[in-house]
Amino acid sequence: MERLQKVIAQAGIASRRKAEELILQGKVKVNGQVVKELGTKVSGKDRVEVEGIQIEKESPVYYLLYKPTGVISTVSDDKGRKTVTDFFQEVPQRVFPVGRLDYDTSGLLLMTNDGEFSNILTHPKYEVDKVYVAKVKGVLTKEKVRMLERGVMLEDGKTAPAQVKVISGDRRKETAVVQITIHEGRNRQVRRMFEAVGCPVQKLKRERYAFLELGNLRPGEKRELTPHEVKRLR
Ligand code: URA
Repeated sequence: MERLQKVIAQAGIASRRKAEELILQGKVKVNGQVVKELGTKVSGKDRVEVEGIQIEKESPVYYLLYKPTGVISTVSDDKGRKTVTDFFQEVPQRVFPVGRLDYDTSGLLLMTNDGEFSNILTHPKYEVDKVYVAKVKGVLTKEKVRMLERGVMLEDGKTAPAQVKVISGDRRKETAVVQITIHEGRNRQVRRMFEAVGCPVQKLKRERYAFLELGNLRPGEKRELTPHEVKRLR
């Protein structure tokens, strides 16, 4: 027996939080009866309907995608832009991204149909390491590096300590290539951090997520995570 909101989240229909809202709004039926109790438990034999549509439990799938630039990290886009789900057309499950990467950012993005798994990884408490390589404009002085490491004040608060490694810098051309490791996942965080120290990001790539790396993948390619990797991430 599983909690109703978990079953809905695992079916890839909604996040767990959204599933709870749907239940409270009376939009969920179990065996034909509206259920508004969040603690309700259901088994595989129960018929669960969300907004009149019966859910089928999809087998959970977990992928690592090398997201190219020029692709949006949503399941659909009303402006018709390419989205990360376009790389999963042959995959029968309805996958969605775990967190997001900006349209202009490339790199490692996890994709799954397991809402529970996604919720765990994107929860602020989880603090998974995310390693980015940024090409920035301007002279990245030691003082600026120290500011980034200690945390910079952004409009949504001070950032947590980060690790910063300058890979190369060209004072004449006023550019630098920097590796930065952050543990939070705020919107456009890396870009805003460099902006705050006067070195705007020109190019950004996520190279690592927790212990996962891109390996031999090329932009637009993906691979399934191994069961062992999935277990380690949970
Ligand atoms: N930080 C950003 O600024 N952009 C991303 O895509 C990811 C992290």
